[in-house]
Amino acid sequence: MTHWLSVAVQTPAHSAVAGPLTYRSELPLTPGTLVRVPFGKREVLGIVWALADSPAPGWSEESSRAVSGALDGVAPLISAWRQLVEFSAAYYQRALGEVALAALPPQLRDLSAVQLARRLKPRPIKSGAADAGGPAQPPGSLNATESVALNDQQILALAEFESKKGPFLLFGATGSGKTEVYLHAVANLLARDARAQALVMVPEINLTPQLEARFRSRFAPLYGEGAVVSLHSGMTNPQRLKSWLAAHSSAARIVLGTRMAVFASMPALKLIVVDEEHDPSYKQQEGARYSARDLAVYRGRLDGAKVLLGSATPSLESWHQSRPASAGDPGGRYVRLVMPGRIGEAGFPKVRRVDMNHQPMKTVFSPPLLDAIRARIARGEQSMVFLNRRGYAPVLHCADCGWKSECPHCSAFRVFHKIDRTLRCHHCGFTERVPRACPACGNIDIAPLGRGTERLEEHLAELLAGETRPDGTPVRIARIDADTTKLKGALESQLAQVHSGEVDVLVGTQMIAKGHDFRRITLVAAINPDGALFSSDFRAPERLFSLLMQSAGRAGRDAAFITAGASGSEMWIQTFHPTHPLFEALKQHDYPAFAARDLREREAAAMPPFSFQALVRAEARTQDVAQGFLNAASAAAQTELAGLPGFDEVMPRITLYGAVPMSVQRVANVERAQMLVESGSRSALQRFLAAWHEVLRQTRSLPAHKGLIRWAVDVDPLTI
Ligand code: ADP
Ligand code: ZN
Ligand code: ZN
Repeated sequence: MTHWLSVAVQTPAHSAVAGPLTYRSELPLTPGTLVRVPFGKREVLGIVWALADSPAPGWSEESSRAVSGALDGVAPLISAWRQLVEFSAAYYQRALGEVALAALPPQLRDLSAVQLARRLKPRPIKSGAADAGGPAQPPGSLNATESVALNDQQILALAEFESKKGPFLLFGATGSGKTEVYLHAVANLLARDARAQALVMVPEINLTPQLEARFRSRFAPLYGEGAVVSLHSGMTNPQRLKSWLAAHSSAARIVLGTRMAVFASMPALKLIVVDEEHDPSYKQQEGARYSARDLAVYRGRLDGAKVLLGSATPSLESWHQSRPASAGDPGGRYVRLVMPGRIGEAGFPKVRRVDMNHQPMKTVFSPPLLDAIRARIARGEQSMVFLNRRGYAPVLHCADCGWKSECPHCSAFRVFHKIDRTLRCHHCGFTERVPRACPACGNIDIAPLGRGTERLEEHLAELLAGETRPDGTPVRIARIDADTTKLKGALESQLAQVHSGEVDVLVGTQMIAKGHDFRRITLVAAINPDGALFSSDFRAPERLFSLLMQSAGRAGRDAAFITAGASGSEMWIQTFHPTHPLFEALKQHDYPAFAARDLREREAAAMPPFSFQALVRAEARTQDVAQGFLNAASAAAQTELAGLPGFDEVMPRITLYGAVPMSVQRVANVERAQMLVESGSRSALQRFLAAWHEVLRQTRSLPAHKGLIRWAVDVDPLTI
């Protein structure tokens, strides 16, 4: 008997075949089964998406192609997983097959059935716990050496978490013990339910080793080594496949990962933790541009899993969503859990603003800041200096003729990197040796303008030359940024040096501001944070505030260290706008005050979270073509969609702005333009985008837009 199956396969973006394809099969296969199917001249991996009752229109039984084989040994993907993929594809305007196949580990696509069977062969398991099919110790009896007694605010937060449905936003100060709450929530779940799985997400790959160590030491003794696995893009393909299979087969009880892990197949998923939920890295910035944080909340509903978002500086979306009920407002959907205090006696760092208007022109390190750093070196404490720009100087400049180190391929300057004397474009990668003389006029006095971390480190070394540590040895300065950490393992070894106290002053980009549990840092300084105060991007203040709060959170984390004689910890801000409300709120460590003010401004301007946005981006050789395409598609939307059923209600709720160049308008000789679509209603925006997609496709195929290279939709964009 012949069965008809609709199978998701990876199709090119925006191709006419966006949905699953129909294949025939001699065997009845359940939805979710992984299969290999012919596609064009190749054989590819597919996922049986649904049963079909006939060949696709226009195909006969004979002309239809047959499934080549099923991947026995891998259980079908469950319905909740398929629904998650379906939702993501629809919501983020991508092809189902693209999202579905991208959510699987790459090796699954490439391995033949035989190779896969070999991978699936049971291996001897090291720890006895996993064979026994249950915990080696009675559930709940945590290893005494690992267990931490929660403090009162942790107990309260956890109790509320256990007693309500959620989703939850854990608003806990840096160092308030959020991670410990996650660990307990997971421990309770695994002890209560012998099958349950938990997914714990962190924003950055470089935060996973620390987290993995903490989870492993807590749970491996109870549930075996195989109970905890990681999933992130820093792993090799075989490692990723292994973790994925462990999660899919339920052998792994805990999956730790970055945003991609939101798609991990976990048939018994009962808890999702999203740590540092505000972090922009949860948004995938290419291909299917999904937000792993938002998908986590959606997935929680599908799988019946509790969702716990955590942050000291929540995204304004989540903050708003967790607002308590008030007069005339039923409140948000999320339950807000609050942990304001830091663990132990550790207080919050004192925030000191240096008014740069009162410093000599071109001051980089103000004298009081330098004195404070010097005093710490002398006492054997560490300082962290933070500047969000890598390289030596953002521009090289000729004072005679005005030449600047523009990238010939981008509308951006090439950054001067002194270490290898190169000019590098951070957008397209174009790199050249620094010219000996001005390429325009021959002047040999070309000079760096502005500064990045490399120059800051050099400058600081000059200023601190001669300073000594308590043991009389010279001061040590180190730098951590994308340039110093390119090699595998470099970041780990550099962080280890900071932890072991070998470094006195650490210079770096936002990379050092995130999440690391540094114990001996008592001073954090932001050298020049003003840029974001007046950015055209409405999210810039939110990002700045969070970055500064997070960096302040690196200081004085160890109460024991501070009370053992170290001075109080401090966060220094050098600014030309010391009275700016953002810095006032920072000084009070008052995220709610900052959030309330920023949300009022957003509400007044009808910005997210009070409206919903999508961006359509277009790339072409000229701005005219890129913008022309967007404007034509916008005009076509008005004429072609207006008549669709229900669209008399949708269209008035949609605002289509005109096409504009992107802020970096040209990259690698490609002109980029974008168009903003806005609506007060998420569902109206969704309906509009779904219908508009076909219009965009058709507009693209018109001869007038032949020069268009590509276009893509970004739903809930993070940068505008
Ligand atoms: P957060 O994730 O909120 O920044 P962590 O969970 O990393 O905070 O906790 C900060 C530090 O305090 C960690 O070293 C952690 O081991 C420790 N800690 C957390 N909870 C407790 C507790 N109840 N008692 C003692 N130490 C704790
Ligand atoms: Zn470039
Ligand atoms: Zn010149």
